[in-house]
Amino acid sequence: MAISRLLLRFTHRNDTSCQFLIREIRVIRGKVFIRVLLVVKMKNIVILGSTGSIGQNTLSIIRQEPENFQVAGLSAKSSINLLEKQVEEFHPETVVITDEEAGEKFLLRSAAEKTEVILGNEGLRQLVKKPGIDLVIIALVGIAGLLPTLEAIEARKTIALATKEVLVSAGSIIMSQAKKNKVEILPIDSEHNSIFQALRGHQEAEIRRIILTASGGSLREVKGDLSDIKPSVALRHPVWKMGKKISIDSSTLMNKGLEVIEAHYLFGIAPSSIEVVIHKESIAHSFVEFSDGFILATLALPNMKLPLSYVLHYPERAKSNLPKLNFSKITKLSFENPDFGRFPCLKYAYNALNKGGTMPAVLNRANEVAVEAFLKERINFGRIPEIIKKTMNLHQVTEEPNLEDILAADRWAEEKAGKLI
Ligand code: MG
Repeated sequence: MAISRLLLRFTHRNDTSCQFLIREIRVIRGKVFIRVLLVVKMKNIVILGSTGSIGQNTLSIIRQEPENFQVAGLSAKSSINLLEKQVEEFHPETVVITDEEAGEKFLLRSAAEKTEVILGNEGLRQLVKKPGIDLVIIALVGIAGLLPTLEAIEARKTIALATKEVLVSAGSIIMSQAKKNKVEILPIDSEHNSIFQALRGHQEAEIRRIILTASGGSLREVKGDLSDIKPSVALRHPVWKMGKKISIDSSTLMNKGLEVIEAHYLFGIAPSSIEVVIHKESIAHSFVEFSDGFILATLALPNMKLPLSYVLHYPERAKSNLPKLNFSKITKLSFENPDFGRFPCLKYAYNALNKGGTMPAVLNRANEVAVEAFLKERINFGRIPEIIKKTMNLHQVTEEPNLEDILAADRWAEEKAGKLI
């Protein structure tokens, strides 16, 4: 009886990083002796989008901790020079290159014979299903992350999600599939990662509201009309160094709007209980207010390696050697309300969430199309919100959409927003 209880305790440790092997059980003079071997297991990591900013930061953590992590698979769209360097350094079993033309070039010159190379989007879905993977990091740009995320959930892999567009477009499907398959979704987005941490050990019913902080983006100090802002100005984020799409989303505050939708699905909080506050110092990443009035704030230096290290080590905590927050250097922490008039994208995101159904997917895709056109200087800055609003106004919402409805709404929004441009 005692032995079975003991074994149960070992096997029920919520911990994938080590395993106990029972080597011997002996009974000597009525006492039970058990010899146990502790095997520390490395986590096998797959990174979808390894050449982007999140992917590179993840690999730089793995580089520092070769005893803890092993790279099982990587993927890139077309940045094959960087991917080649990553393959040489981390020796993944599999790489996927979704742009087939770039993939052909990679195949011609790659000397990594031990690495399997798969070309095309379908490869992402094959990669995440492979056996022995402990964590799949989704760091693709935009809606491209949706199908591989669903595939990974169905294959029961733990997900670390950086691509917020996945939850924005198909949040209810993703969360219900994750629940059904008992898969944990660990948020990488700094605000959601910090809320996830604050909520550990708390019940949904205890939460009164959550508050997402926003740096305010590259245009927070710009006075006057924003309609003719150039991409080079909008891309200059004051705090975070990130990819182009998310930097523009920060400048329009759409990034925060997408995060409100992301938070709603991840944590099951009503839209009216999710608030946004501008906090220029980016030290507090979120606040969670409980039913008794207490508020938990999560503070950390604005460094993406912190949430990345958290999800890599989860459920344990990393022993980080990243720079520490020095309180004597913080002269103030400021908070102000966002300006919904100057940054209407944030308002449109709330509208889309309140409408529900396929509307968030439409908001998301119209935004992707508009941001891409702005980056190519085909439209001016002021037309980004205009195109999103017009596309949303034209959309007939499908309630409780299935995956096909979401994908159809996404294609519809791509076409409509494209025509408006
Ligand atoms: Mg964020």
